[in-house]
Amino acid sequence: MTEQNLPYGDLAPDTLVVATGRPPREHDAPVNAPIVLSSTFHETRTPEAGDRIYARGSNPTWDPFEEALGLLEGAGLPALVFGSGLGAAAAALSLVPTGGVVVMPRHGYAGSLSLAADLEAQGRFELHLVDIADTESVLSQLEALAARADAGSLMLWLESPTNPMLEVAEPATLTKAAHAVGALVVADNTFNTPIVHRPLDDGVDVVLHSVTKWLAGHSDVVLGALVTNDPKLRERLLSHRTLHGAIAGPFEVWLALRGLRTLALRMGRSQENAATLAHRLAGHPAVRRVRYPGLPTDPGHERAAAQFNGFGGIISIELDDVATADALVAAVRLWLPATSLGGVESLIERRRRQPAEPATVPEELVRLSVGIENVDDLWADLDRALRGTRAS
Ligand SMILES: *Cc1c(COP(=O)(O)O)cnc(C)c1O
Repeated sequence: MTEQNLPYGDLAPDTLVVATGRPPREHDAPVNAPIVLSSTFHETRTPEAGDRIYARGSNPTWDPFEEALGLLEGAGLPALVFGSGLGAAAAALSLVPTGGVVVMPRHGYAGSLSLAADLEAQGRFELHLVDIADTESVLSQLEALAARADAGSLMLWLESPTNPMLEVAEPATLTKAAHAVGALVVADNTFNTPIVHRPLDDGVDVVLHSVTKWLAGHSDVVLGALVTNDPKLRERLLSHRTLHGAIAGPFEVWLALRGLRTLALRMGRSQENAATLAHRLAGHPAVRRVRYPGLPTDPGHERAAAQFNGFGGIISIELDDVATADALVAAVRLWLPATSLGGVESLIERRRRQPAEPATVPEELVRLSVGIENVDDLWADLDRALRGTRAS
């Protein structure tokens, strides 16, 4: 699809998002990949392995996005795009043999936790929740589980920072220990994106993305992706995608690649805005606690500074009580009261409004997904709304 002679390995991420996933440099060829709307492909001879054949298995519009994301995550293989992040999560969880054990962060993404709990209820595997930031405790629990589980039947699921508690784990240490007991390691990299952190560098086996969020970045598509360096794992994940049919529409993937072109710029601006807002919020009389790994006082700060290229665009704040938190969300005019994250527009949500949110997430916690607007406008709106909660 693209020019193999470009030394992609030497290019920085902010170049890769622009340079990769383009058609070959031929006279009069388009510079952007076209959207291919076709459910089937000409078969003028007996099909061979790797042929497109039918669009549940393969679509030319997926290729440039999969190539770009694979390179961005530092994989030697193209990513696999799915119809949603949870579709990708279901494929990743299918790698656990029946009767196995899945270890997940207790404050992981609520949808992944609900999916894993549902599979546990069906008898597929046992779900074991941990405090992912407590490395010692996760290590001893992994050892205990390995002592009673069959070799190769364990999966460690990483999310760091967690959603919405923003706890920071030590993925390289955890991955090493998990591999030592034969566990497979999946890392949900939705919050960080490869601009901030590349889990494959920690030795993680499979990286998961809700492409819906930062990668596509405009809150206009629902998509997911998996990335791995292991050809056998990729084959199994591809087979799951084809057989279970959690495939992406060509237009959505085309939009995601278009969004990916500005990922580095958007992440940069969101992170800058988030850092400024987190510092201002930390000094606000109406805010009881700010969770943001970029704050030097944050429990995850040292780990995040050591591992990450930035501190992300999500801030969680805790207000005095639920009524105050709801009043804040109701009072903002620029921030959009909506779930989801990672778009160009700033979103605000009291997470426990969602019934699936873990009960250990404080009721009065409000998650801010910081967009790319002018930071002083964002602050003025928040500050006015926060003061209003005090006045009433
Ligand atoms: C949104 C999200 C998902 C699920 O992705 P969808 O595209 O909504 O299916 C998974 N993990 C994290 C961290 C998310 O934020």
